[in-house]
Amino acid sequence: MITQSGNTDLAQRDTKVLWHPCTQMKDHEAWPPIPIRRAEGVWLEDYDGNRYLDAISSWWVNLFGHANPRINAAIADQLGTLEQVMLSGFTHEPVIQLSERLIAITPEGLDRCFFADNGSSAVEIAMKMSFHFWQNNGRPGKKRFVNLANAYHGETLGALSVCDVPLYKATYGPLLLDVITAPSPDCYHREPEQSWEEYSRQQFATMEKILSQRHDEICAVIVEPLVQGAGFMRMYHPVYLQLLREACDRYEVHLIADEIATGFGRTGTLFACEQASITPDFMCLSKGITGGYLPLSVVLTTEKIYQAFYDDFINLTGFLHSHTYTGNPLACRAALATLDIFEEDNVIEHNKTLAARMARATAHFNEHPHVAEVRQSGMILAIEIVKHKQTKDPFPWQERRGRRAFRHAMEQGVVLRPMGDVIYFMPPYVITEEEIDWMARVAFDSICKATETT
Ligand code: PMP
Repeated sequence: MITQSGNTDLAQRDTKVLWHPCTQMKDHEAWPPIPIRRAEGVWLEDYDGNRYLDAISSWWVNLFGHANPRINAAIADQLGTLEQVMLSGFTHEPVIQLSERLIAITPEGLDRCFFADNGSSAVEIAMKMSFHFWQNNGRPGKKRFVNLANAYHGETLGALSVCDVPLYKATYGPLLLDVITAPSPDCYHREPEQSWEEYSRQQFATMEKILSQRHDEICAVIVEPLVQGAGFMRMYHPVYLQLLREACDRYEVHLIADEIATGFGRTGTLFACEQASITPDFMCLSKGITGGYLPLSVVLTTEKIYQAFYDDFINLTGFLHSHTYTGNPLACRAALATLDIFEEDNVIEHNKTLAARMARATAHFNEHPHVAEVRQSGMILAIEIVKHKQTKDPFPWQERRGRRAFRHAMEQGVVLRPMGDVIYFMPPYVITEEEIDWMARVAFDSICKATETT
């Protein structure tokens, strides 16, 4: 039974028994976790009745608001019929329908769906499938992965191996795969007169060299298309993906597109790969797939890759990977309801208005003496705070300026949760234009306070 309590009581009970993700638990001595009692639309409400605008969609998952009536109804309906069945040897209509619909809306040529229950697992699956494909094709030497500098792909050991964010990766180095890292096409460090396209194209030169010289030992390149999410929302031009697709074809190397953060409309198109008109060999999806309700992930791949595993059992070429909750029916129904909303509400079109409003509401941020860049890709807008605007010298990380901004914003009722000193908006698509203006005002005020001296 859940008892009614206040914030303080619950926070005290929490810190006695929980260990929170992505948290130095000692930080909670000064600022305890906030217990959330209920949520609706873009608003979270705590046990003392305070409301907070969920400006980062609860770690980028929530698309159509909390307690969305249409998703609620779909899950409730599914609860009455089938809550779970293992997907090995069994199947169910929600997972079949979801596969059919995902194949129809993702780039041409992705024809098979392999499900799991979180983003890191999807990345592991794509990596294992790629390696295994080359094994099955008599190319056992192809066993290395190429990633991009500043990449993030999850935190299980395989996924962490293809990350490049030291904060998460450095400690575990001795446990990880030895990957080849190419420079990022991220345009933050381009010369002032250089265009995004020029810079991303220039950054591709090293990737081309790596692939031309080492393709015999490489099974796949993995990228986050257009936006490196947990790598501080750094962004790049679609030309890089076009060049990469061509080179991967030329050198017989797979391309894994990790659209876990960028998928389902975040960058302005349903999938970021669309902006480069490319089809990857593997596409990993999760986060927004269920509208932010339940854990689900999927790897889409091509018929060619699927066929390389299709054989008599005794030849032992099958892909025998499994996770217990793979393709859970409740999660699949939430995903189907989410896709319905995309279709019925013309979401991608509507988001253009919201994205334009985010741009307008933050246009003046560029004049702030500690803002080095405001960048945007569709429904993601990021603000880079620095010590010296001209040189882009960051504040010493120990000063935790981003965290200060986070705290100021929370006091005013907006959840920003910056990454380092990068403040960003990634709101649910049901946010109103007035709420965008207010969110931007709070963010600006918080940036001013957080960048005051000392
Ligand atoms: N890939 C990307 C691009 C992500 O942003 C994330 C999560 N932030 C993951 C993989 C890992 O997903 P999960 O946290 O569900 O394991």
